[in-house]
Amino acid sequence: MSKQKDPPGRLVYALGDRLYINLTSGCSLKCQFCLKNNDTGPMVGDVDLSLGRQPSATEIRKALTDLEGYAEVVFCGFGEPTLRLPTLLELAEFLKRKNMPVRLNTDGLANRVFRRDVTPQFAGRIDRISVSLNAQDAETYNRLCAPPWPDAFQYLMDFIRNARDHVEEVSATAIDGLEGVDIEACRRLAEEDLGVMFRPRPLDDIG
Ligand code: SF4
Repeated sequence: MSKQKDPPGRLVYALGDRLYINLTSGCSLKCQFCLKNNDTGPMVGDVDLSLGRQPSATEIRKALTDLEGYAEVVFCGFGEPTLRLPTLLELAEFLKRKNMPVRLNTDGLANRVFRRDVTPQFAGRIDRISVSLNAQDAETYNRLCAPPWPDAFQYLMDFIRNARDHVEEVSATAIDGLEGVDIEACRRLAEEDLGVMFRPRPLDDIG
């Protein structure tokens, strides 16, 4: 028997003047700071983002009924959107045909997952990418995020460098206040070595 459909408000939700697409609950990482693991579960405001199953592109499109007045559509949620790369790209194309600015929030590990450089596929589809750098070095990253691959941090840095060639704006983020995270070292890595903007995030913001 097929699982019940999730309500449209769980697939696409608004925060201020942005619409967020909740494509998957799946994730490569097991971050110590993940809000999925807190007492309230995967909640953003009043919206419960737990998904019963992976929504199809058609279901998401149907939930994107009214784009009027929104400044941007963001692939986000409590999972890693690039794990559903073909669906993500299809929806991004759909949004660009409607002239919507599109942002991707990502762990930056898609090239490791797919074992190829996926960043050229973002050209013309994604306007901004925000990558969770999370740490100033591989040791801290591995401790905080528990990636399944020991070389994940190198892939993450290469993803950021490659994405600059195909996406108008690429930025890196890290959470300010986590034990072991040197936020100024993260800033230097992002700005000076990787050549992108850096944005520190508060602890309760995984979007
Ligand atoms: S990448 Fe995001 S959703 Fe995945 S475990 Fe880390 S904080 Fe949670």
